[in-house]
Amino acid sequence: MLKELEQLISLQKIDNKLLEINQLKGDLPQIVENLEKSIAALEQELTSNQKRKKEVTLEISDLEGQIDDNKEHLKRYQDQLYLVTSNKEYDALTSEIDNVRQKIDAAEYKILELNDEIQALKESIKSKELTLADKRSEIKVHREQLDKMNQKTNEAHTKLMGQREKIVQSIPLRYIREYNRVAKAKDGVAIVPIHQIFEEKTDKKGNIEYHPSQVSCGGCHKIVPPQKIVEIRSGKSLIRCEFCGRLLYWDDKTSEIRSDNEEELI
Ligand SMILES: [Zn+2]
Repeated sequence: MLKELEQLISLQKIDNKLLEINQLKGDLPQIVENLEKSIAALEQELTSNQKRKKEVTLEISDLEGQIDDNKEHLKRYQDQLYLVTSNKEYDALTSEIDNVRQKIDAAEYKILELNDEIQALKESIKSKELTLADKRSEIKVHREQLDKMNQKTNEAHTKLMGQREKIVQSIPLRYIREYNRVAKAKDGVAIVPIHQIFEEKTDKKGNIEYHPSQVSCGGCHKIVPPQKIVEIRSGKSLIRCEFCGRLLYWDDKTSEIRSDNEEELI
């Protein structure tokens, strides 16, 4: 068998064990990652809500100050009304009074709007704080589970990664690139044994015989064309499955499968 093919098969066996370890962890790493993301997003929203609440509070007290000032102006103008001596002066003063009243009205209206905003912000902050507390306790539980799982599998994982590094260094780069490309597209499984199924048949005398039936890809289980089988068995070149693109090889231990499905018998 081609040396590189043998090396890729060994690499896949290591990767299969690593995949098994990852499967043990199930969805835990993903759950923790998703929770981390939503906690970070919530914290950011909360910070911006609190910042806005502070701004609005300052804006309200600023407007209240303006109203107080304007009320004083109003009072002064109203007092002056009794002292005017000409129509012109009277008109100027009443127009000034109207002007100040409008300013007070506008500021009071704006304060009402801002108070509504503050109320909405308070509710939003409260609800986010509650959600955040929930998510924080949720992530704590999942992180503990993941840590426990990691502690259990770390030793095996480290050992496998060591073996992996060693074997990767010994394989020519273009084979590694090819392996990585297929593995990435096919859930980490780049190279698979083909399966030759032997069907059980009973002849007229009652003797049981096994006849080779179809050959299929060990990855996608689609039929491998008969002309490729000899080439795959020889192991002298890299042959890929026409359907899934995985590299194929013949494995003396697992490639021959006896059919024990009686329905398939003729
Ligand atoms: Zn396939």
